[in-house]
Amino acid sequence: MAANENRNVNQMLNQQINKELFSAYLYLEFANILAEKSLLGIARWYRVQAQEEREHAMKIYDYLLENNQKVTLEAIEKPNANASDVMGIFQAGLAHEQFITKSIYDIYTAAMGARDYKAAQFLDWFVKEQAEEEQNAQALIDKMNILGGSASGASLYLLDKELGARG
Ligand code: MG
Repeated sequence: MAANENRNVNQMLNQQINKELFSAYLYLEFANILAEKSLLGIARWYRVQAQEEREHAMKIYDYLLENNQKVTLEAIEKPNANASDVMGIFQAGLAHEQFITKSIYDIYTAAMGARDYKAAQFLDWFVKEQAEEEQNAQALIDKMNILGGSASGASLYLLDKELGARG
């Protein structure tokens, strides 16, 4: 029984690699839409985020390999931003991170059920990271709300400049 449950945890981690790579792809699509609007600063913010998502995927990839688990790479879904304006993109970004948090929590629950404490401890980093990711995504929405819920002209120029400073 324990072995099966353990295999399930590893399968879920394997699927999470795909979800993190999809996140990178989605944020690259956001950057793409923003670049088309000449908002290169906000586009840069999402390009940096896309890079972080690839690092998340690699963290899980390395964990599985270090634990002698087979990694299976599946097709990455075509990203659909479901948004055309900046606020819509910010909101889609928060919704996506909430989805990822739920996915991490599901794996955590499975790990605890299977008494796979090694996986649970590994996932602690992701639990903390997801809290930060949601905070960061919410902060973008908060900034836009300060500007009245949408931005154009000088306010949009300044927001683009500020977000473009992300290292
Ligand atoms: Mg991630």
